[in-house]
Amino acid sequence: MKPEHEERFRRIADDYLDRPGGDYAELLHRGEVRSPEGVDPELWRAEIRAKARADKIRVMTIRSGDRAIAALRRTVPKDQEFRVLSAAMERGEVLRGAAERARLRGHEIVRWVAHDQESIAMCPRCQARIYVRLDIDPPVVDGEALEKPCPS
Ligand SMILES: [Zn+2]
Repeated sequence: MKPEHEERFRRIADDYLDRPGGDYAELLHRGEVRSPEGVDPELWRAEIRAKARADKIRVMTIRSGDRAIAALRRTVPKDQEFRVLSAAMERGEVLRGAAERARLRGHEIVRWVAHDQESIAMCPRCQARIYVRLDIDPPVVDGEALEKPCPS
């Protein structure tokens, strides 16, 4: 991993560890959150909506394959919902592709931590990392999890 990506990875990880509030907290903080892999997207949507209802916060959720995406409605004008959700889905594609590459090397990529246009993930077995940055074209996808096989 390039040193500048390594530094960003550490910053994002530290930032996340300061607020381990889960998906709903992430939604409130970032304005957008994706369901974790392996979680039933419909149950996840129902849970996010129930929490939002209890807090009287307006959210929109959308299904994207075996995942779901939730976004705060107040941040997005009605006529831009589709554009915002499409962008979220495109980001999902890049992350899925990176996780797939790591999995081909035996790593286990369970969830991503997002920080604006950057995302990080780590193999829980060997701590191999992935760093993704999405606001440049082509996106940055870096990390030893994409190069080296999982030793375990
Ligand atoms: Zn690994």
